[in-house]
Amino acid sequence: MDKLSIRCFIFLVLTSFVTIVSCLSATTDYREVEDEHEFSYEWNQENGPAKWGKLRPEWKMCGKGEMQSPIDLMNKRVRLVTHFKKLTRDYKPCNATLKNRGHDMMLKFGEEGSGSIKVNGTEYKLLQLHWHSPSEHTINGRRFALELHMVHENINGSLAVVTVLYKIGRPDSFLGLVRTVTKNQVRLLRVAVHDNSDTNARPVQPTNKRVDESEFSYELNKENGPAKWGKLKPEWKMCGKGEMQSPIDLMNKRVKLVSHLGKLTRNYKPSNATLKNRGHDMMLKFGEEGSAGSTKINGTEYKLLQLHWHSPSEHTINGRRFALELHMVHESKNGSMAVVTVLYKIGKPDSFLGLLEHKLAAITDQNDAKKNVVMIDPSKINIESRNYYRYIGSLTTPPCTQNVTWTIIRTTRTVTERQVNLLRVAVHDDSNSNARPIQPTNKREIHLYRPKSS
Ligand SMILES: [Zn+2]
Ligand SMILES: [Zn+2]
Repeated sequence: MDKLSIRCFIFLVLTSFVTIVSCLSATTDYREVEDEHEFSYEWNQENGPAKWGKLRPEWKMCGKGEMQSPIDLMNKRVRLVTHFKKLTRDYKPCNATLKNRGHDMMLKFGEEGSGSIKVNGTEYKLLQLHWHSPSEHTINGRRFALELHMVHENINGSLAVVTVLYKIGRPDSFLGLVRTVTKNQVRLLRVAVHDNSDTNARPVQPTNKRVDESEFSYELNKENGPAKWGKLKPEWKMCGKGEMQSPIDLMNKRVKLVSHLGKLTRNYKPSNATLKNRGHDMMLKFGEEGSAGSTKINGTEYKLLQLHWHSPSEHTINGRRFALELHMVHESKNGSMAVVTVLYKIGKPDSFLGLLEHKLAAITDQNDAKKNVVMIDPSKINIESRNYYRYIGSLTTPPCTQNVTWTIIRTTRTVTERQVNLLRVAVHDDSNSNARPIQPTNKREIHLYRPKSS
């Protein structure tokens, strides 16, 4: 790295909240359009920013997306972290075409490639650079003179944008890698575009509830480890002070045998699902409308939303931990949650995981949504035993919401070590566990349902 890149690199690392690495959950059809005259940046025009979502069916996310950019990087929403890996940059000289896209100037790099960055271990190739003036992102409401977007793409079509914000000051030698520019440099970029507008900055979008799942970790002695989850955010406080938290130890002497809970009825059906790497686990997310079917608990229907796995198991039985725990997460009409759990020890392969193996092996990346759509039949998940534990607990990840109805199938099943590893490796975080420590049972009752023998 030359001196300039080093300075830039230090700048990027030090001001990690200035430098936004936003991995857009990429719909594969996302591309910045060629003819940008179809939309404008003028507020009161009929094709202005507030109307973008209505201009074309395929642009609807501009209007109804809940994870839109840019946003304001407000101090009170920002959490300082030290556990992200360093942003590694490996760029090299490359032919590039300077292109006027109508609303901005773009430097598009040639096929031979201008190098790449690594985000969470995944390589993203640099496709193009362009500039927005004034800046699109703001920091505590403050807007800057210029914003550089370095647009990268990985092998699965997920995008990552690295951004540098500039204020007016000394000239920038690349027009890129230092943090001040002259007014004239900014003007140069605007004039070259020669549209009527004097801005190409989209208004700031709502932050909503975006949670970066790296915000919490499973490392016991880390500052964002399980013991601290409740302190990390006000809306996560139940993780710390809730009295009905999960997981728990299903201790024999606490368990009451009952026969009144009734058979677990499962009414699942094949459905499209998206295999998603959430940073701490792999999740199979089913379609919105309860397309994967439901289960009935105490007469209430709970639709199956998603499946994911923890290794080792989160729940223990008489202190014994298992190799893997499957969580089938359900929700009722009024928003109550029910999780049905299967515990696995090492042994013969699990046939349901067997169906997913090649998909998991293919995933080396975080957010490659659409490419990982698979047809899944949740009724193929073997349960075998009719006996189950039942207690009232919480989600085992932040925000640790309580009043979750837990059903833990009594009989453990088996998986191979390879199957467990596949689930861990696909996540590729630093941790080798995604099991929350055991929480106090407090005064809760734990029931074990066993049908009356006929
Ligand atoms: Zn841009
Ligand atoms: Zn879980």
